[in-house]
Order: sequence, then structure tokens, then C-alpha cells
Amino acid sequence: MKLILLGAPGAGKGTVAKMLTKIDGSVQISTGDILRGAVAAGTELGKKAECFMKAGDLVPDDLIMGIMEERLQEDDCKNGYLLDGFPRTIPQAEELKLLLARIGDELDFAVNIDVPRDVILDRLTTRRTCSDCGAIYNVKSNPPKVEGKCDKCGGPVVQRDDETEEAISNRLAVYNEKTAPLIGFYEKEGMLLTVTATSSDAVISAIQERLAS
Ligand code: AMP
Repeated sequence: MKLILLGAPGAGKGTVAKMLTKIDGSVQISTGDILRGAVAAGTELGKKAECFMKAGDLVPDDLIMGIMEERLQEDDCKNGYLLDGFPRTIPQAEELKLLLARIGDELDFAVNIDVPRDVILDRLTTRRTCSDCGAIYNVKSNPPKVEGKCDKCGGPVVQRDDETEEAISNRLAVYNEKTAPLIGFYEKEGMLLTVTATSSDAVISAIQERLAS
């Protein structure tokens, strides 16, 4: 399957993407994970992206399109991919459309994961992430077995730099202003599936139903 996962920070895009990869071997492509990896490795890309990310602002579109143009042409994308956190702006969505036409690729649809704001806020403040493998935990509902240590790879499980109260409120404002308009964009393209659900299992079922129809 080839899907775009849309939704506010904390809507569960990453969790849903990880679950979908197990269904048919599609790969999760998270621009946030790619950028965090670049920051940790201290690459040129990481140096350019770091201050935007820390403040909860978006990284400039041209940097993101450069990453995605390469990533979408890697071999593992042939089995399908789940775009998690990309596109994030209307210009990115328009450029993605051109890029896909250029490389002869086509998406199935875009999924808008619609979760109430109070649930989002609670999730973002209690979310913890493995800084080595990106596994997602929650201090209340899904803590790692050993505090601070990833069950899957043993890496450090930490609060992301952009999950301070200030950065979270900026990320949500940026989402409303820059990313929420993508819902209308994909609706006009006739390729939007909106799922109003807080459970990832319900989101997965709705996706599978649409894929089968
Ligand atoms: P995420 O893990 O998807 O919440 O992304 C974390 C941060 O990475 C965002 O707050 C942005 O600073 C940056 N980022 C990730 N994806 C994009 C994108 N498609 N466009 C611009 N910035 C992005």
C-alpha cells in the first residue's frame, strides 16, 4: 500500500504506520525520524534543521523535498510506503504530486487521523520515544518494561526535545495553520479517508476496509 498519513502531532501517525508495515511489508517513511537522525549524526541537513525542530517550527520545504525525492526512489519503496509526517504544507503536497508523476508512481489515498485536542495534548506530554530505534512509549498507558530503556533495542527512551509545553503548543498552531489545509487538498483530489478514532486498531480496520473496496 502507498498511503499518506495526515493528522495533528500526537494523532498516532507513527504508531499506525508501524502497525501497517507488518501487514504487507510497506516501509514507514517518517520525515521527523529522518531529520532527528540527521541532527543526532550532526550532518549538514541536521545542522540546518535543528533550530526549526527544537522550536516546533517546520523545516523549509526545499530541504524536505530534497530528502523525499531521494527516499521515494530507494528500492524498499517498491513494496509500498507509508508517508508519516509528509507532506506538511500545500507546496509540499503539490511538489509531491509532480514528483510522483515524474517517477511514475501513484498513491492509494491519504488518511486523516482525526483525534480530539484534549487527547492529543495528553498524549504528547506523556509520550516517550527511543532515540535509537524510534519506538514509541507512553508513561501512563505503555511504559517500557525497564524505565528509560527501550524494550526492542535497549536504547534510551526519552522525551523529545520538541515535547516541552511551549514547543507542543507551537507545533499544534503550526499544524492548524500549515498542515490542516491538506485535508481539503486531498478531499478535492478525491483521495481522502477521514477516520475519527482514538484507537490505532480502529484506524487500521478503516484503512483495510478502504483498500479492499
Ligand atoms: P514529527 O516527528 O513528524 O512530529 O516531526 C518533528 C519535527 O520535524 C517537526 O516539528 C518539524 O520541525 C520537522 N518536520 C518533520 N516533517 C516535516 C515536513 N514534512 N516538513 C517540514 N518540517 C518537518
